[in-house]
Amino acid sequence: MKTFFNLVQEVQKPGLCHRCGGCVTFCTAVNYGALELSEDGKPRFGDMEKCIECGLCYTICPEIDELEEDTRRLSNWSAPMGRIIETTVARAADKTVLKAGTDGGVVTALLLHMLDRGRIDGAIVARQVGRFQRQPFLAVNREEIKEGAGFFFDTSHGMKRFSDQYMTYSSIQEFDPMVRKGLRRVALVGTPCQIMSIRRMQALSLVPSETIAICLGLFCSGNFIFSPAEQARMAELGGFAWEDVQKINIKDALLVHLRDGEVKRIDLAEIESMRRYACRFCQDYSSEFADISFGGIGAAEGWTTVITRSPLGRAVFADARSAEAVEEFRREENAAFASEALGKVRAASGAKKKAARHNRRDLGTKPVVIDR
Ligand SMILES: Cc1cc2nc3c(=O)[nH]c(=O)nc-3n(C[C@H](O)[C@H](O)[C@H](O)COP(=O)(O)OP(=O)(O)OC[C@H]3O[C@@H](n4cnc5c(N)ncnc54)[C@H](O)[C@@H]3O)c2cc1C
Ligand code: SF4
Ligand code: SF4
Ligand code: SF4
Repeated sequence: MKTFFNLVQEVQKPGLCHRCGGCVTFCTAVNYGALELSEDGKPRFGDMEKCIECGLCYTICPEIDELEEDTRRLSNWSAPMGRIIETTVARAADKTVLKAGTDGGVVTALLLHMLDRGRIDGAIVARQVGRFQRQPFLAVNREEIKEGAGFFFDTSHGMKRFSDQYMTYSSIQEFDPMVRKGLRRVALVGTPCQIMSIRRMQALSLVPSETIAICLGLFCSGNFIFSPAEQARMAELGGFAWEDVQKINIKDALLVHLRDGEVKRIDLAEIESMRRYACRFCQDYSSEFADISFGGIGAAEGWTTVITRSPLGRAVFADARSAEAVEEFRREENAAFASEALGKVRAASGAKKKAARHNRRDLGTKPVVIDR
């Protein structure tokens, strides 16, 4: 039976662990309690004596292929980038949600709508607690869901838990409060690797993954880690000062929005060295295993590209649309908006897969940096 020891050998040592937190979450949620996350989100043994060698942390790791077929079947996955029922471009109808959103605030609008309709009891989201730091939490009311919206710089947050990690966290560690509070239907917002980790657990019907009623996946180019030197480099690349920055979002480039309305654009290729090492081997750009996927690419500023992937995802989005919780892009402005958006997502997805294949071929022939 392969256990966490094998994950260390096969996933962590080659630098493939992207810290989705799946292994720790499962071991903790079922009360084995052998694993923990280090301060910087790396899984490790907390109490080796508690390991009963069930082997499930190994099986559910997204980097291990044992469950690939089952996971694909569960999500009706098809090539080249998962099942697509409908693609559209939308934004939150509520102006405060739209203003707070990273792109069009659609993720937040859908969560609020599902909560209002009684479809979910809560949502695992992330709130900003420092310039680059987000903290996962279980939101159980409207105000808490709204706290998760967007990506803003606000020094009034006090940099409580300042870190150099841009927008990454192990959302699924919030399984624990979800179980303790006895919630039965929770939405999860996460990056493709986090969604994959949940789907692996669901493929094996592992407790408590059945509580995740819907997976809202974000498109993802990677986790970027900014040390002070890298922050200085970014400011130089973009020609801005950090104190003037209001918001950041990622599309086909990193967009830095300044308080005076100017938007600075930094090519992702220019900040490749700041991307987490494991992300170089990741093939999923568009959250291929989510019920609905969201990103800014392909959408005009202030709008979100939305891909519904499961009948549940389609129903939830359609319900929000007919209740006017979200507003669709106007066809009169561009009749081809949806196909153009999908084309851009396809291109970004294809490029990510190609780079990952190439980097995997090189794996083992180049020195590994596993500190990020
Ligand atoms: C690491 C990362 C990389 C991304 N890369 C791209 C990209 O390359 N191209 C692209 O088009 N889009 C990318 N996105 C998605 C994009 O930034 C927006 O999240 C998406 O368009 C939804 O916007 P919105 O305004 O509808 O969401 P909002 O209404 O603003 O809601 C966003 C939701 O995401 C949650 N969230 C924020 N950060 C995280 C995180 N790290 N992990 C899990 N949940 C989180 C928030 O709690 C909130 O619930 C990325 C997102 C992340 C977190
Ligand atoms: S990729 Fe995820 S599940 Fe695999 S070892 Fe890393 S944190 Fe654990
Ligand atoms: S108890 Fe199971 S899930 Fe926990 S570390 Fe051991 S093998 Fe992994
Ligand atoms: S690129 Fe995104 S989805 Fe892939 S491993 Fe990195 S954070 Fe996870």
